[in-house]
Amino acid sequence: MEFKELPPVKEQIMKCVRCGKCRSVCPTFAVIGNETAAPRGHVFMVGMLRNGVVQPTPEVYDRLSNCLMCESCSVACPSGIDIHELNAAARSYIYEKNPSLSKELIFDTMWTHPGMLKTSVRFMWLAQKTGLQKLGRSLGITKLLPGDLPKAEKILSSVPYFPARSELSEVNPARGEKRYTVGYFLGCATNLFNPEVAKATVDVLTRNGCEVIIPADTKCCGLPQIANGKMETARELAAHNVKIFNSYDFDYIVTDCASCSSALSHKNMEFLLGGLKIEDQAFSFAEKVMDLTKFLIDVLDVQPPVNENAKKVKVTYHDPCHLANAQGIKEQPRELLRRIPGVELVEMKEANRCCGGSGTYSLTHYDNSMKILDRKIDNAMLTGAGKIATCCPSCTMQLRYGVSRSKWQADIVHPVVLLSQSYRQAKALGK
Ligand code: SF4
Ligand code: SF4
Repeated sequence: MEFKELPPVKEQIMKCVRCGKCRSVCPTFAVIGNETAAPRGHVFMVGMLRNGVVQPTPEVYDRLSNCLMCESCSVACPSGIDIHELNAAARSYIYEKNPSLSKELIFDTMWTHPGMLKTSVRFMWLAQKTGLQKLGRSLGITKLLPGDLPKAEKILSSVPYFPARSELSEVNPARGEKRYTVGYFLGCATNLFNPEVAKATVDVLTRNGCEVIIPADTKCCGLPQIANGKMETARELAAHNVKIFNSYDFDYIVTDCASCSSALSHKNMEFLLGGLKIEDQAFSFAEKVMDLTKFLIDVLDVQPPVNENAKKVKVTYHDPCHLANAQGIKEQPRELLRRIPGVELVEMKEANRCCGGSGTYSLTHYDNSMKILDRKIDNAMLTGAGKIATCCPSCTMQLRYGVSRSKWQADIVHPVVLLSQSYRQAKALGK
């Protein structure tokens, strides 16, 4: 489909009334302070691109890519403009005119082949374990990496050796009476960087009467591709995942990753696959998709164990943009935390403000990302909590890095990990 004909561009671009509401909530505008970095500046730029006033050059791409895709602007916009979708469509259009070999390699080849992704993460693990990463830093070799990667490679800390998939079965029977058959969309980042989250997800779901099936041939949800102008690849990945999951008879399709659940949502399926032959299949797939915390509270109504001896812990919660802004899910993760014995939930200021990670933004715009991150860590630290809970592997990685840069000692944890631990502790105490 031509850029000019894409629904977000065609229908939305004229609706901007220049009220500036989007500007007041934009994390990148807050650190850059220049109108070209403001959401309405992006809308204006996309308009000029559409009308041929500016050309699709790498410079225009760079301007538009200084955006976290956090969707705060789209939520705030009184005209209902999906500003982030306009931006994504424009990035894709510009990218098609200016393809790059490194992006093809990363987003078309490596990220679409789970085996290759796993191998590259193994290399990272090896470099960290053998001290090669540190040596590379001290010899200045990491400075040879492209873009902001020389600074940002530190964010990728403590890579585990075993991905979740190597430790989990494809079919995990329900414990006790079976209530639902659930397809678990195990995203790349949870699988490779946070296997403890995947194991906790399967543990909690099976304990609560779900048979959990993890389809072997799942591929990336496509969100990194959308953010990097690779819309066509994102479409192919979405169509692949739709076909795989539709070949099972699932009651629900659940994921513990906020980015994945937003990428698999009806809205995003419409954005990627609307109007194509696969549209109906994509919509029936998306109807079953639900974020894990919403599923645990709204569908299963999970009841954690009663444990009056549970250790008291103060936990603050960071809203992932792809959960709070993209899907309006704010209450369920908090309610889940409140139900866990021993947990005291303390709210941080600006909990719903981006942490600056946003998948690949911290790797491509390191300095801005760190300014946004420092504000987040300051707000979290002021709560006096010992843990930050969040539901997104990208936020987890970014927050861990933020804490490591500060003088604060805090764990970053997915609520489902706390819940799984709570079940196991209660069992050990014979509760
Ligand atoms: S998506 Fe977020 S970072 Fe991007 S323009 Fe909107 S508010 Fe700013
Ligand atoms: S909030 Fe919406 S209408 Fe207002 S300036 Fe931003 S894009 Fe335009």
